Amino acid sequence: MIDYTFRFDPQRSNVEPQPATSEDARRALIEGNRKFADWIKSCRCAAEGEDKEFVVRCGLNSILSVDVHEFPTQKPFAVVVGCSDARVPTEMLFGQGFNDLFVVRNAGNVLSDVVQGSIDFTLNALKDSVRLIVVLGHTNCGAVKGAVDAYLNPGRFWSKSYSPNLRLIFQRIFVAVRESDNMIREVWGPDAQRQPGYQDALIETAVCLNAAHTSFALRQEIKEGGANPDVEVLFGAYDVRTQHVCMPTAPIDAQSAEMVNLATAPQRPEELASLAREIATGLKPGGKAARRPA
Ligand SMILES: [Zn+2]
Repeated sequence: MIDYTFRFDPQRSNVEPQPATSEDARRALIEGNRKFADWIKSCRCAAEGEDKEFVVRCGLNSILSVDVHEFPTQKPFAVVVGCSDARVPTEMLFGQGFNDLFVVRNAGNVLSDVVQGSIDFTLNALKDSVRLIVVLGHTNCGAVKGAVDAYLNPGRFWSKSYSPNLRLIFQRIFVAVRESDNMIREVWGPDAQRQPGYQDALIETAVCLNAAHTSFALRQEIKEGGANPDVEVLFGAYDVRTQHVCMPTAPIDAQSAEMVNLATAPQRPEELASLAREIATGLKPGGKAARRPA
């Protein structure tokens, strides 16, 4: 039997205090993801009849302790901008529960006026609890795959295959795809497109760069806008195969719980180029860190 349990003990009302700083919040998400990924791994290896349970301790007291006629207080410690992909359940993969995360999801975890407005809301109305903003991409992202496909086949981009609104999402991702393509050609050589694994590498690199770009833009907005200097902006990519959140993505065979990581949002464009180079080098066919296709 495999159980995923939300547990609330009324005898121990404040089970765990909320993270007080952005670093505490980062550690809480990383630890939560490590535990979740380890649990999934242990479920894969479980013997027949062996029970496996994942317990999320919930601070439901904010809900249960108020009179039913009152509104409980919303107090998430982190904002997560993630993809709508059904394989990427935000609270679960970070091992978090009720009232912990303010989640904004759309296909491709792209920025838009509505996404930015939602984050602005948290920085004002929820400023007493929010310590962190995380942009989370993921491997095998359908939106990034679509953007890569449209980038490589411009004729299809303008066909009836894609609705105008879907094109808007792809357009938001094109910059990351273009930069990924340029770096892969630089690292792999001018015949990169003819080498095995090129398209998968372009998708994987673009997934990371897209999350990095979004975090870069958000950080600029928040830090330069002076909204809340204590809120940190991080980014990462969730591997839908191993459940690990890391950045840059690690080769699947080399992944471990120790590699789970959320990176600080780039502050300069050169950092985006360095990230692209690191990933393109790791994905180069025959390279030391060659990976299986996504
Ligand atoms: Zn996606």
